[in-house]
Amino acid sequence: MKSVTLRGTDKFYPVGKIICLGQNYAEHAKELKFEVPASPVFFLKPPSAIIYEGGQIVLPEISNEVHHEVEMTILIGEKGNNIHRCAALKHVAGYGIGLDMTMRDIQNEAKKKGLPWALAKGFDTSAPVSEFIPAETIGDPGSLNIQLFINGKLRQSSSTSKFVFPVDKVISYISQFITFEPGDIIFTGTPEGVSRVEHGDKLEASLLDANKNKLVSLSVSVQ
Ligand code: MG
Repeated sequence: MKSVTLRGTDKFYPVGKIICLGQNYAEHAKELKFEVPASPVFFLKPPSAIIYEGGQIVLPEISNEVHHEVEMTILIGEKGNNIHRCAALKHVAGYGIGLDMTMRDIQNEAKKKGLPWALAKGFDTSAPVSEFIPAETIGDPGSLNIQLFINGKLRQSSSTSKFVFPVDKVISYISQFITFEPGDIIFTGTPEGVSRVEHGDKLEASLLDANKNKLVSLSVSVQ
């Protein structure tokens, strides 16, 4: 079973559901030719997709186009359903950085045929995650920055202030339909700049505060 840790504590959380937002940055929706949705759009990854700091992404042979998507991640610490927006952040144990690795060619094929994204998004190693930073040390999750460097070059950079749906709204909305439990993880969607990764690439993703001080980083490579 996969589990994640909360920095500065001895707590570890067995990973439950991994809920991922789609099209939560207007510019990224545009680059994939999606319309910006009227309510949050989400899909699931299995916990078996998780890898950690120093891990290796394995590119499935059925795809010629595995894309990086850097995303802020949220670790749920407290169970709840029908969570009111004003109480939503109390359910968060911590924030981190992650990569929603995506077989874009397989996803495009699925989109065309109206088929699920489970394979395109849920394959083994498709969910690298960092450790989590306790929510109480973060302050406002809507004023953080995320970055991804590949082989030392900046490839994606944005702010959580650009979310189409902010964190409290996302938690409140999803909790109307799906009960959150401790150990659930939310991937909050990627900004523009997604592209293909190659064998041997070194990816370094970071979550930064409003003043661009690094809060946590995640380094993984492509096998
Ligand atoms: Mg994504």
